[in-house]
Amino acid sequence: MTGATQTTMDTTALKRDIYGLFINGESILSESGRTMNTYNPATGEKLAEVAKASSVDADQAVAAARHAFENGKWKKYPIGKRAKVLHKIADIMRERFNEIVELEILDTGKSLAAAQGQVTQAIENFEFYAGAIVGHRGTVNPMPGQFHNYTEKEPVGVCAQIIPWNYPIMMASWKIAPAIAVGCSIVVKPASLTPLTAIVLGEICSKAGVPAGVINIVPGSGSEVGNYLVEHLDVDKVAFTGSTPIGKDIMASASETLKRVTLELGGKSPNLVFEDADIDAAIAGSLFGIFYNTGQSCEARSRLYVHENVYEEFLHKFVEKTKQLKLGNPFDEGTHIGAIIDENQLKVIDGYVKSAKEDGAEILAGGKPAMIEGFENGYWYEPTVISGVTHEMTVVKEEIFGPVVIIMPFKEEKEAIKLANDTEYGLGSAIWSTNDARIKRVGGAIRAGIVMVNCPFSAFPGTPFGGYKQSGFGRELCIETLDLYTETKSILSYYGQRPINPFGI
Ligand code: NAD
Repeated sequence: MTGATQTTMDTTALKRDIYGLFINGESILSESGRTMNTYNPATGEKLAEVAKASSVDADQAVAAARHAFENGKWKKYPIGKRAKVLHKIADIMRERFNEIVELEILDTGKSLAAAQGQVTQAIENFEFYAGAIVGHRGTVNPMPGQFHNYTEKEPVGVCAQIIPWNYPIMMASWKIAPAIAVGCSIVVKPASLTPLTAIVLGEICSKAGVPAGVINIVPGSGSEVGNYLVEHLDVDKVAFTGSTPIGKDIMASASETLKRVTLELGGKSPNLVFEDADIDAAIAGSLFGIFYNTGQSCEARSRLYVHENVYEEFLHKFVEKTKQLKLGNPFDEGTHIGAIIDENQLKVIDGYVKSAKEDGAEILAGGKPAMIEGFENGYWYEPTVISGVTHEMTVVKEEIFGPVVIIMPFKEEKEAIKLANDTEYGLGSAIWSTNDARIKRVGGAIRAGIVMVNCPFSAFPGTPFGGYKQSGFGRELCIETLDLYTETKSILSYYGQRPINPFGI
């Protein structure tokens, strides 16, 4: 498998100066000899060098995955044996929890609390799928007379899994766990900005007993390696999480070979606060809803609509609390808000805020890059609250992917629903109310895959996660994800005494 320029790498420590590709059970350098750097967004300093996959490496990874799928033992293991390996992966991750958390913080600049929560969820996701596959099975179907029909769930084959930079280990686990649980082989392409924890997760899976070739990790450029995987004839399915424009390109490319596709894309999620809400709970939940993960979340509740009768009270308290949020050393327990992923994203966020100002909106908190003592070369943005907006403004329409929220009053429930649905996206949404009938009505009317009711959280292992409209399709993190990594085979048999001869000849 390894070429002349490839060197097998030491994978003992999770924190290293150089990280390899993970192909066919080995950590190796790219055949091209190319590497790329990752940076700590909190400090701007170089963190590590990472082998940068070429299309030749990606081809090797697909070949390894295909070989493992066709000839290997993984998909033939009894379910209980695969489940045991998934539990072992979770066990190793737990043993190395602090190291994984540290690596994730260094690579992303996110806060300690956020990283701890996300690594925990990644671990629990492996445990969830270890249990879920036990109940994932075909059906026996009603048939007339001497016929019998049952179905089997077969792994879809080789899957390319392309993930974004905002939740690296969590997204890797959302992809890897269900796919290997059902017996698929995979090639994961992490985001170039944050490849480290996906690489070490691949290695951990191998140490836990996943056979060589079943999991391959190829960090590299989206346009080169990502696109190559999407077009590859030996890839059966593409599972993509990322931006809506790239998702559209992937769907178009995958249509050439009719690959199975699931797309988890962008969002511009509404957050509705009704006059009968517990206002303090709504404020706390809305702060978390937008500023968690520095606003770099697909389901960030970035459009806040508040009933006019409680608008002034809510606004005043919400702005005050926004100003109290602590930015700073991501490793400090008291830090609420971590860094922005890179300079480019910082400029994008600032551009949106400037466009809001030019459009006549009012900045009530934040509104500019932040200077953090001791982290002057990192990328930081002040948590920002914008009012005085209309629904035509760019800042209301487009996904910003940063700590920026717009806030608007509404008069009545119908108007709130209309505003919530006035978007091309349909991923998350939140309702704050103590009126059960209203919660049911509004929750039913919102066109989004997730409705959070008096709750700041959007997902736990077991809860379906995915979008309506241009937020994509397919559901991850849940039992039905297993269906998206399997084909249903129908077996129809005849048990009659007399041969069937429909043509009568
Ligand atoms: P992105 O679309 O730029 O990149 C995502 C991944 O796709 C990366 O690995 C990238 O290298 C790869 N890629 C880029 N071009 C490609 C191409 N032509 N072919 C194949 N792969 C390609 O997104 P990002 O900036 O990394 O992440 C932010 C986006 O992800 C936001 O829009 C966010 O809403 C979305 N997201 C969605 C979810 C969800 O579950 N719905 C979760 C997290 C993030």
